[in-house]
Amino acid sequence: MIYSTKTLKMAVIGDPIDHSISPFMHGRIIEEHGYDALYIPVLVHGDETGRFTDAAKYLGFSGFNATMPHKINLLDIVDHVDPAAAYCGAINTVKIRNGEASGYNTDAPGLLAALKNREFEIKGAKVMIIGAGGASGAAAHAFGSAGASSITVLNRTLAKAEQLTSDIDCARAKELDQENLRSCAAEADLIVNCTPLGMTGVKGDFDDLSFLDDTKAFVADLIYNPWRTKFLARAEERGLKVMNGLDLLIYQGLLSFQIFTDIELDLDAEYRYLFPLCRERLSL
Ligand code: NAP
Repeated sequence: MIYSTKTLKMAVIGDPIDHSISPFMHGRIIEEHGYDALYIPVLVHGDETGRFTDAAKYLGFSGFNATMPHKINLLDIVDHVDPAAAYCGAINTVKIRNGEASGYNTDAPGLLAALKNREFEIKGAKVMIIGAGGASGAAAHAFGSAGASSITVLNRTLAKAEQLTSDIDCARAKELDQENLRSCAAEADLIVNCTPLGMTGVKGDFDDLSFLDDTKAFVADLIYNPWRTKFLARAEERGLKVMNGLDLLIYQGLLSFQIFTDIELDLDAEYRYLFPLCRERLSL
């Protein structure tokens, strides 16, 4: 590829950053369509979010993705915050035009697109979310806007779940204990694990997964490594429909690409193209 001043420049920033699959994923989209574009990983420390944003504006970047620890910092740094990103309290996508940076969050619409692709209807659904961190906030707000009939957020630290649900009309908070897991799962249409429990390299897993034995829900885990957490494996053994975190990863990336480039993609076709490539790349 020969680059010019017209080449669309994109990046992903984070600390650490080498593990990110975004350069691979965006690289495949660029290659597949022959776009005049590049997408690079950049190691940026947590106290340099603003410095990188200024540099990206100066260098004429079209935009950049942000991962840990920049997603919250960016809220005070960008020139415009998309209302949905403000609602979620985190920015993972920054678009730069005419020297101005606008912040978006594609995790929330990415999760909705991933569930739609799996033919799950959020409108009217009773949703149960485990965990009350950044991903849970994006998910809860997305489900609220998409017309879920009820959302229950269960968390180890109840106060965080209470805060997260305070501005969502149909949402309530509950403590993460076996009794609540069981009673919520029994009536849920969708259960989403938004904690790192069961993730490779993270200590800790669910002690007791019997709450999955009395549910008919669609079960999703935001984790994709391992391919099947014990949580998802138990749901699958019970004959429930399951989805791991790779679908979200791909859809949020595709939505970011559209924002950076103003190019409209056929999201589901791109997903079908990227899914096996990303799975192989991650050796899963
Ligand atoms: P986060 O902001 O750190 O929140 C983590 C949540 O998990 C908190 O509510 C925390 O509870 C809970 N938690 C952590 N350890 C726990 C334990 N031992 N027992 C019970 N609860 C525990 O993390 P996040 O950014 O929301 O990410 C959550 C998960 O989603 C991670 O595994 C991440 O990799 C995954 N994720 C995947 C994608 C994707 O594209 N597939 C995108 C975003 C996130 P407390 O509030 O009590 O601390």
